[in-house]
Amino acid sequence: MNSALNIAIVGAGFAGLASATLLARAGHRVTVFEKFRQPQAVGAGILIQPTGLAAMRTLGIAEEVLAHGAKIDHLWGVNPQGQRVIDIDYARWQPGSYGLGLHRGVLFTALWNAASDAGVAMRTGHEVHTLAELDAFDVRVIADGANSQLRAQTGLRAKNAIYPWGAVWAVLPDPTRHYGATLWQWYRQANQMLGIMPTGLQPGGDTPVVSLFWSVRADRYAALQVDGLARWKETVLQLNPACEALLDHISDPQQLTWARYHDVVMPKYHTTNTVVIGDAAHATSPQLGQGTNLALLDAVALARCLAQPQPVPEALANYTAQRRGHLHFYSQASRLLTPLFQSDQVALPWLRDRFMAHSARWPVMQGMNLQTLVGVRRTWWGGELKLDTTSGDNAA
Ligand SMILES: Cc1cc2nc3c(=O)[nH]c(=O)nc-3n(C[C@H](O)[C@H](O)[C@H](O)COP(=O)(O)OP(=O)(O)OC[C@H]3O[C@@H](n4cnc5c(N)ncnc54)[C@H](O)[C@@H]3O)c2cc1C
Repeated sequence: MNSALNIAIVGAGFAGLASATLLARAGHRVTVFEKFRQPQAVGAGILIQPTGLAAMRTLGIAEEVLAHGAKIDHLWGVNPQGQRVIDIDYARWQPGSYGLGLHRGVLFTALWNAASDAGVAMRTGHEVHTLAELDAFDVRVIADGANSQLRAQTGLRAKNAIYPWGAVWAVLPDPTRHYGATLWQWYRQANQMLGIMPTGLQPGGDTPVVSLFWSVRADRYAALQVDGLARWKETVLQLNPACEALLDHISDPQQLTWARYHDVVMPKYHTTNTVVIGDAAHATSPQLGQGTNLALLDAVALARCLAQPQPVPEALANYTAQRRGHLHFYSQASRLLTPLFQSDQVALPWLRDRFMAHSARWPVMQGMNLQTLVGVRRTWWGGELKLDTTSGDNAA
């Protein structure tokens, strides 16, 4: 392994905190720079895949997180004609496997505590404006999210586009766990999509919650606010009348959080002493629910590469070589799938409803769908990321 390195990490998000924890535990001196004085993960629930769970086992936080999450064993999506567009059981990938609906704050708290316990120096309220500020460090890890200001300064090639559609989100109480262990979606063509995901407990809370999300084209978000909450609820109820009790908890438009998605692609993630990870390197739309999982796998792979007996430039080149195929597959798959669920297209969702329902019965397609969902698909033509979920030894 590289002897103790002086490592700077920019960003105390999931990618930054997970890397900081593993690198500090490996004996490196790690400093995390975070622009917010009191960093916290705001926002709604995230779907954690078996890949993310394996990474959490490596990080030693899986038990704590599982205690606050909601197991998801089934994904179900239907159109107004009652056609099942998505109907996937995790257990069909591997018996006993599942996803986890999780409040962001739960994962953030677990990672923050793990990084602090590992001796990471936290510099909060410290925005890094230029990479030159970090010249004194042996390794610089750029984990400043999809809106990264530092990525461009590395000189690495990157494409950063913003999807035309986003979503509004709310976290709402579900005391009786009415929504069970299924992530539910309802679609009308591709211009309406409602999702409800069991999300476990909020940090410090003891009432089960769900995350509700509703797809909105960015240039229509202002109109949604002008039209008002009552009109929005009416539209949502036309798609799924059964969610009225849930909508009753929304009395103020402020309860709906607006989120947009980036599409970031980099052919290479490293220079000789700098590496870009997490959303800064490969933000995708959340259609496949992979971003956090990919960020955690990045952290595990980076720590493994720096643990090898090789100079830093080779370790970072090794990181790009290990991660590129997997990351490019998920960014391509997200780019391909997103317009099927979020667009004004008519033909595409028509084909989606027919093709996806039928293809689920074809063994080859079923296998590909399952691998893609759980996060292990490596390329379009095959290959599965190997996860050892018992010892946490996940080979990225
Ligand atoms: C609506 C929505 C739903 C999602 N759902 C899912 C899901 O179901 N499953 C899933 O796996 N993923 C999901 N994702 C994706 C997931 O949220 C991201 O992939 C993940 O948060 C990326 O983590 P990160 O650490 O790379 O970046 P971030 O979480 O963005 O963290 C970056 C950090 O860097 C800090 N920072 C930025 N610039 C600087 C600077 N110059 N100096 C110092 N600090 C700085 C920021 O303050 C922030 O704390 C979703 C995303 C969205 C938007």
